[in-house]
Amino acid sequence: MGSDILVYKFGEKCVATADGIDRIVDVVRDTVGSGWKLVVVVAAIEGVTDSLLTLCRYSELGIEGKIEEYLDLIRRTHSSLVEKALRRVESRESVSKRIDKVLEDIKSTLYTCLKLREVTPRARDYIASTGEVLSSIIVASRLREEGVEAVDLAGWESGIVTDSRFGDATPLIENSRVEVSRRLKPLVDRGTIPVIAGFSGATVDGSITTLGRGGADYTATILAACLDADEVCLWTHVDGIMTADPKIEGKARTIDRLSYEEAVELARFSVKGLHPRVFDPVISKGIPVRIRNLFDKSRQGTLIGPGKPEIDRRIVKTVVLIRDVALLAVEGTGMVGLPGVAAKVFEALGRAGVNILMISQSSSEANITMVVDRSSLDKGVSALESTVTGSLVSSIYYEPDVCIVSVIGAGMRGTPGVAARVFKAVASKGINVRMIAQGSSEYNISFVVKEEDGEEAVRAIHDEFRLYEA
Ligand code: ASP
Ligand code: MG
Repeated sequence: MGSDILVYKFGEKCVATADGIDRIVDVVRDTVGSGWKLVVVVAAIEGVTDSLLTLCRYSELGIEGKIEEYLDLIRRTHSSLVEKALRRVESRESVSKRIDKVLEDIKSTLYTCLKLREVTPRARDYIASTGEVLSSIIVASRLREEGVEAVDLAGWESGIVTDSRFGDATPLIENSRVEVSRRLKPLVDRGTIPVIAGFSGATVDGSITTLGRGGADYTATILAACLDADEVCLWTHVDGIMTADPKIEGKARTIDRLSYEEAVELARFSVKGLHPRVFDPVISKGIPVRIRNLFDKSRQGTLIGPGKPEIDRRIVKTVVLIRDVALLAVEGTGMVGLPGVAAKVFEALGRAGVNILMISQSSSEANITMVVDRSSLDKGVSALESTVTGSLVSSIYYEPDVCIVSVIGAGMRGTPGVAARVFKAVASKGINVRMIAQGSSEYNISFVVKEEDGEEAVRAIHDEFRLYEA
């Protein structure tokens, strides 16, 4: 460490308005003024990635009219920002030209897909990656207007090399390291600020990949690891990670500090919009990650970083609700004592592309209960019906209307009685618990309740552990 480099990532709401972009300019100036070298990563404007993915769906379905409509929507979103956020006519004109070019390029790909009625994973990633490209062009241009030397770069241009799992690619860290030192480091060293389109990279042979939804944060931590940066700051529109969702629990507070282990538990469920692998690149290097509110800099935000989490006096740090999940169970006495059944079940679900969030098996071995994304429940049921029902599994059981409550905190490790307190609090509200799992890290206890009981369970636990106290 000690490279004097910081990586700042600006989220989808930060880049969405002229006010947000003014604030970006301010923090960039302040930071550079204090002598730091800076790498900027941007997200796409809020909603744009979704629109791009919708466009892909319309080309698959052959709905040409919608393609024009959505492209126009994306164009207007950006041109209105260009009008408001850029000051000079020349920069507006050149940025608008570049935006039109990007949209023309994806349009021709979309029409090819439309003809074929197929969007390949490569085409989808290329199209989805352009939201960030558009915002990076605008942000870099505004910085240049302010006299800051800045250049916009696509993810692959910054040197991020990934495997070829399109849609959910993982960086090849060694390759990325080499490429980032070759492409990005010289710019940073001479004081230019690269404004990098988050969310994407490219395979070794140059196909554009995306890193999975919410992947712009991941871009920031990958680049920080490759550059041995001193710190990553994820600038967003909220104060940081909270003890509970403030929409559920009015007394929720911002958490000052989380260990990597705790943050990983949070990210595992993609809650708080965190990418499940976002902390992977920085953990071994001990690079701290801060989450801060661009719209209220008086707040210190949440610092996620190295250090012994056990030192913290708080047993439980946060309680989260994971919605839109379903319970799926296989039952049958044929499973008892027979090795390999679990493997068959998970293989069938894996092949069908069903993501499993929780697993538990009773010690009688007569059932395996899982929690899956609700949107993939039907797929999961039919995958199981066609593979394992019969002699092994006598019935498949499911409940679509459930949610997961997850209680997270490193202090739970080795502290007896935490589970008892959790379940007593929940039981005192008359809530029935359908399934329980504790990760072996002991940083997390998760359980499943009916959807309608989820919010009350969160509040009960928040109260029991007095998470409202500073
Ligand atoms: N724009 C991408 C998404 O919506 C990446 C990100 O926002 O982090 O998933
Ligand atoms: Mg996002």
